[in-house]
Amino acid sequence: MNEILEVRHGGPAAKLANQIIREEEEAIRLLTLDSYEIVDSAPEKSYDDIARLTAYVCATPVALITFFGREQQWVKSHFATGNFADKPLHLPPGAMLSDRMAQQPGKVLQITDLTQDEGFAGALLLHGGAKLRFYAAMPIYSPSGEILGALTVADRRARALAPEHCLALETLSRQIQELLEMRRTLIGLSDANARLGQQNITDALTGVPNRRAYDQKLTEEYSRAKRTGAPLSMLLIDIDNFKEYNDNFGHPAGDTALQSVARVLMSSLRPYDFLARYGGEEFVIILPSTDLTDAIVVAERVRTLVAGSEFPHRKFTISIGIARLDVEAGARALVQAADNGLYRAKAAGRNKVVVGKLNDTSPAGSATP
Ligand code: GH3
Ligand code: MG
Ligand code: MG
Repeated sequence: MNEILEVRHGGPAAKLANQIIREEEEAIRLLTLDSYEIVDSAPEKSYDDIARLTAYVCATPVALITFFGREQQWVKSHFATGNFADKPLHLPPGAMLSDRMAQQPGKVLQITDLTQDEGFAGALLLHGGAKLRFYAAMPIYSPSGEILGALTVADRRARALAPEHCLALETLSRQIQELLEMRRTLIGLSDANARLGQQNITDALTGVPNRRAYDQKLTEEYSRAKRTGAPLSMLLIDIDNFKEYNDNFGHPAGDTALQSVARVLMSSLRPYDFLARYGGEEFVIILPSTDLTDAIVVAERVRTLVAGSEFPHRKFTISIGIARLDVEAGARALVQAADNGLYRAKAAGRNKVVVGKLNDTSPAGSATP
C-alpha cells in the first residue's frame, strides 16, 4: 500500500520538503560559483580597482568583493583606509547574507546600525577589533539569478547610503558580473584549446599518439638520455602483409584491424613506454631507460602477443626493428638503425625481431626467432 504523505503548510513534512529544495538550490548555486574558478584565485587588479572605486564613491573606509563559498565568505578584494588598513576581517556567513538579500531581490541590502539588527547583532562585522556598525551590500548575481557573492561597503558609524550611492553599488556590482562572465569565457576557451591540442597529437583512426606526438616525445627523451646518461631504445613495428588484408577484405576492414592491432600493442606496454602510429600500418614504441637487452625482451613480448591475438578474418604478425640510442650519433641515427633492423626482419621472412645497426651494409642476416 502506498503511504500518503500529507504536506500541511508549516507542518514537519512541509519543512522537510523546503529544506530539501533549499539544499538542492544551494548545490546548484555552488556548482555555478565553481564554474567561474574565482574562489581561491589570485588577486586581480580589475577587482581591486572596483573595490577602491566603491569605497571612494560611497565614502566608506571599507569596501569588499566577496564570494559565498561552501563554508564561508571568500574575499576576492579588500579595500580599507585609515586604521582599518591591513586589519583582518571577520565576516558573517554568506548563507545569512544571501537569505536577507533574497528577501529584496536586485536591491542593496542596507543595515544602518548593526547593533540594532537581530540577525547581525550576533555576527557583527569586526575589522581587526574595530567594530563596524554600518553595512551595505549589493549581491553579485549569476546570469541565472543565483547570488554568487556581494559588493560590500562598511563604516564604523551608523549611517545610510544616499540613493545615488545605492545606484553606484548596483552599477559596480554589474561590472563585477561582466568580469566574471569574461573569466568564464576564458576558462571555456582554454579548455577548448586543451582539447584541440589533444586532438592535434592523437591519431584519429587508432586513438594512439600520432607522428607529431612521437616527434615531440623523441626530442624530449633524447635530451633526457643525453643529460642523464640513461639508455634509450626504440622499436619500429610494421604489420606483415597488410596490403593483402586490405585487398582481400576491403579498406574499412583494414581500418578496423589497424585499430585492433593498436589496442593490442597498447596493452603490451609498461606505463613509461610510449606508443605512436608512425604512419600507415607502422607503429613506433619509445622505451625510455631501457637497454638493448630489455628492449629485445619487450619486442619479443609484443611480437608474440600480436601473433597470438585473434583479429577479424585472420591472424596478424608483425616485424620489429630495434635500436638503442648512441648519444653521439643522435636521435635520427636511432630511427635509422631501427629502420635497418625492420628491413632485415622483413627480409628474414617477417614475424621477426631484429636489432638494427646504423651503417648496415651487410646482406640480411641474423634475426630472431
Ligand atoms: P610487408 O609485410 O612487407 O610490410 O607488406 P605490407 O603489405 O604490409 O606492406 P605494404 O607497404 O606493401 O602495404 C602497406 C599497406 O598498408 C598498404 C596500405 O593500403 C595499407 N594501409 C596503410 N594505412 C592504412 C590505413 O589507414 N587503413 C587501411 N585500411 N590500410 C592502410
Ligand atoms: Mg609498411
Ligand atoms: Mg607492412
